Parts: sequence; structure tokens; C-alpha cells
Amino acid sequence: RFISIEGGEGAGKSSVIAACLDHLRAHGIDVVATREPGGTALAERIRALMLDAAHTGMTAHTELLLVFAARAQHVRETIRPALARGAWVLSDRFTDSSYAYQGGGRGLPVDVIAMLEDFAVEDTRPDLTLWLDLPVADGLARMKGRGDADRIEAESLAFFERVRAAFAARAAAEPARFRRIDAAAAIDDVAAQARAALDALVA
Ligand code: C5P
Repeated sequence: RFISIEGGEGAGKSSVIAACLDHLRAHGIDVVATREPGGTALAERIRALMLDAAHTGMTAHTELLLVFAARAQHVRETIRPALARGAWVLSDRFTDSSYAYQGGGRGLPVDVIAMLEDFAVEDTRPDLTLWLDLPVADGLARMKGRGDADRIEAESLAFFERVRAAFAARAAAEPARFRRIDAAAAIDDVAAQARAALDALVA
């Protein structure tokens, strides 16, 4: 089984991922935790380049190609070998983030992203995607609250609204794969929603 966790800034992905890993392992499931951009040594180097984008004058086109280059490596080096030996994979972000950030946020064409997806991941697609959704202002306030303001001030509020709208469009297009989690709820409640979504696969 391949599960991805998606969401905007300050949605609480890290604590939900920790809760999901505990839950799956308590059921005796061998689960590999990974993340995007990243998940292999090479892909982590591409991640570092991407997160440095503001300082390198990176264009949106370059960002899109880099994230898919990282993903092509991640799928072949980490995700497929894990799935092939029977492990589950839990990825902090996957292709839906490209539709959200490079598509919605940066305004790059969806058909190009879909073409790159077909090429880079082929049939390695999540069985389940947990989308941690909360109003943009709430997420940004949480980021500021924990001193992550520098990561968000490079983008406008409108950018993050477009990211959220793109996640919503992905969820509407693939309701069988997506589970929307109300990430504005208290952390224990968010974790409980995530566990409930996983239980559909665990049973
Ligand atoms: O830790 P987190 O997953 O939130 O950080 C990754 C960052 O990389 C996000 O803040 C997002 O802005 C960026 N990103 C991106 N395009 C992707 C995935 C992530 O711009 N496809």
C-alpha cells in the first residue's frame, strides 16, 4: 500500500505522520516513511536546491522539472523497492503537491504536469491520500507561531489560496483516493481522523 499525506503550510503534517506511523506499526505493518521533495540522497540534494529557490532566481519551469526529477528518483530508488518487498510506504507529499504548488501556486499548465506525472511515476500512484486542509490564514499563523515565517514570506496570500484550491480540485476529481482531514481541529482529533482513514486499508 502506498499512502501520501498532503496539505498546505502549517497543516500539521509532521505530527499526523508520526501518529500514522505509530498506528500502522501497532498493527504489525512494515511501513517506510519518506518525503518529497526528497526521499533519496540525490532527491534530497534537489530538495535543498528547490528550497533555496528564492536565492537562486529559480524559474517556475525549472522548479517543476526539478521536483519531477527528484520524484523519478524517489519512485525508483525508494518507493518501488519498498512496495516490492511488501512494505507499506507513507510519503510526506507526492505528485498532488506539484498540482498544488507548481500548478495552482505558480500557474503552470495542468496538462504538462499530468504528462510529467505519467513519465516520472508511471503506475506508482498512491492508494490513499490524506489531505490535511485548513484555512490559509490559520496555517500561516501556525507557521509564524513556531518561527517559520521566513519560509512563507516569499509567497503571497493569494499563492497559498491557489495552492489550497488546487488540492481541493484534486480531491474533487479523485474522491475515492482522497480523504479530506479537517486540520483546523485539535491535534488529537486530527490524528484520530487520520487513523480512521487508515483503518479502511488496515482491515
Ligand atoms: O515540510 P513541507 O513539506 O511543508 O515543505 C516543503 C516545501 O516545499 C513547502 O513549503 C512547499 O512550499 C515546497 N514544495 C513545493 N513544491 C512541491 C512540494 C513542496 O514548492 N511539489
